[in-house]
Amino acid sequence: MGILEVSNVNKRFGGLQALGDVNLDIAQGTVHAIIGPNGAGKSTLLNVLIGKLVPDTGTVMFDGKSVLGRKPYEINQMGISRVFQTPEIFGDLTVFENMLIPCFAKRDGTFRLHALESIASEKGIIEKAEQMLSDVAMIDKRGMTASSLSRGDKRRLEMAMCLVQEPKLLLLDEPTAGMARADTNNTIELLNHIHESRDITMVIIEHDMHVVFSLAKRITVLAQGSPLVEDTPENIKGHPKVKEAYLGE
Ligand code: ADP
Ligand code: MG
Repeated sequence: MGILEVSNVNKRFGGLQALGDVNLDIAQGTVHAIIGPNGAGKSTLLNVLIGKLVPDTGTVMFDGKSVLGRKPYEINQMGISRVFQTPEIFGDLTVFENMLIPCFAKRDGTFRLHALESIASEKGIIEKAEQMLSDVAMIDKRGMTASSLSRGDKRRLEMAMCLVQEPKLLLLDEPTAGMARADTNNTIELLNHIHESRDITMVIIEHDMHVVFSLAKRITVLAQGSPLVEDTPENIKGHPKVKEAYLGE
């Protein structure tokens, strides 16, 4: 049994079938990529996984429990964190203060700015936040205002903000979108390092094949709302159906 099991999920927007009979079984500890052309239903699927959208039919089980009908913060507390396409950090706060926010959100299901001081006095949380900043090579920048960080560092911070919650499952929606090659390669290295050093399952939605083939152990190709094939990267590369649907060949 996988850590995340999606069974017979359907979602319509009016007359449009955005997701049709989606079945997915994500193994514990893997890096699983979901790829597919524009409009294939990738973001819709992700939104179902994080509780932002409720499917018309089907079930989504995480760690043996249903996520359907739960609020996004409840799903977060169950152990699912996500990295957004655009970094969601607090520009006026320092790097270190930003790290405290997700700790608080995970514990209390909400975040209030004035609580920063109280949480910052909790030794365990400070140590965890510092360790995580070291892991993403950001500890030297802990006192910097987040808005002054480079784009790549903002992304690192955001990743660290997800990881400090110690999620069991990390969802990444195009983590390298809009990045230059060097930053993309840094992110690949960072994610590989995170995956190897922690027991985190990752689901990555990604357009960039270089990223997909550098990270994924398993790949599901989504086309017109339904999984077309699921296989290892080696097999996906040469798959005729994939070439046809995804690469337009
Ligand atoms: P992808 O992320 O793979 O590009 P999406 O999941 O964003 O695809 O979209 C799948 C299909 O559903 C597209 O045809 C899109 O236009 C449609 N769609 C997505 N969200 C909505 C919505 N909120 N209302 C209506 N149609 C939507
Ligand atoms: Mg999308």
